[in-house]
Amino acid sequence: MRSYTLIAPAKINLYLEIIGDRHDGYHELAMILQSIELADQIDLEANDVQLIRLRSDSKEIPVDKSNLAYRAADLMVQEFPDSFATYGGVDITLHKRIPVAAGLAGGSTDAAAVLVGIDLLWKLGLTKSELEELAAQLGSDIPFCIGGGTAIATRRGEILSPLSGLGGIYIVLAKYRSLSVSTAWAYNTYRSLFGHTYIKDTENLAARGNAVHSGDIVQAITRQDATEIAQKMHNDLEKVVLPEYPQVLQLKESFAKYDILGTMMSGSGPSVFALCESQEKAEQVKLSMREEIPNMDLELFVTRLITHGIQVKSQFAI
Ligand code: ATP
Repeated sequence: MRSYTLIAPAKINLYLEIIGDRHDGYHELAMILQSIELADQIDLEANDVQLIRLRSDSKEIPVDKSNLAYRAADLMVQEFPDSFATYGGVDITLHKRIPVAAGLAGGSTDAAAVLVGIDLLWKLGLTKSELEELAAQLGSDIPFCIGGGTAIATRRGEILSPLSGLGGIYIVLAKYRSLSVSTAWAYNTYRSLFGHTYIKDTENLAARGNAVHSGDIVQAITRQDATEIAQKMHNDLEKVVLPEYPQVLQLKESFAKYDILGTMMSGSGPSVFALCESQEKAEQVKLSMREEIPNMDLELFVTRLITHGIQVKSQFAI
């Protein structure tokens, strides 16, 4: 039996700007996405029963057809029926480490890993851009998760422009285990409160999206200037999530008291991260946060920015 074990990193948003509405109901966005070392592990094993079977060590996610990892495998079956017939089905095991519904693209990165893993299992030899095209059919964050690193993401988030990778920057990530924010709620609330500010005409929508390429934060990333990056971080969704979720606001306020470079909510939240200049500093901040908020529902992680997306950890063939 052939099998692959893949590492699927989470992402944070260093920048998230909502520009306007799209005809398909989604928002037109300008984002900077960043992979972090905190990752799920995904085992894929060929089976000979012509079925996709999924299991997970997490009770927080569905293991039926609604799971994004299952949907990714199903897409590969639809796209490559001959390979499915030749190589058989796939047993998928998700070892969840990324907090669920946290704004960290946990489901998206699992789906990206399944696309990469089945490409290997079925010896398809797909290119990165072919994998990204398949990924875009499943969700907006999934193309980024394939190659990861640091990238500008525009339109729905699926148009990617890689930036020079950021290394040596540590973050402390904080999330209340029992708190989740619906991404759909966050975007819909933003529309109802700020829809009047949206750019309406198509040409200006595209121009505003493209403006991020020459923005201050991109220049700071090019210079690898962590202090400047931290100062230029931005997330429009904070305007709706922070007033509604005082615990998220409290995390930002608590982080801000310590010696950090900057703090921001990731995606639609509720996770909040603090950029730190060293691992040692990040560990100190984590300890201070734990003392300040002894609530054991609060999960705290020290992790770092990385320059890659899905990676093969090991493979086995007999
Ligand atoms: P994003 O940052 O892309 O908006 P997120 O980090 O906020 O995503 P996820 O962890 O992907 O959120 O979970 C969002 C929803 O998707 C949850 O309700 C969860 O039950 C469901 N889901 C489906 N498949 C998965 C998966 N493989 N891992 C995690 N959640 C999944």
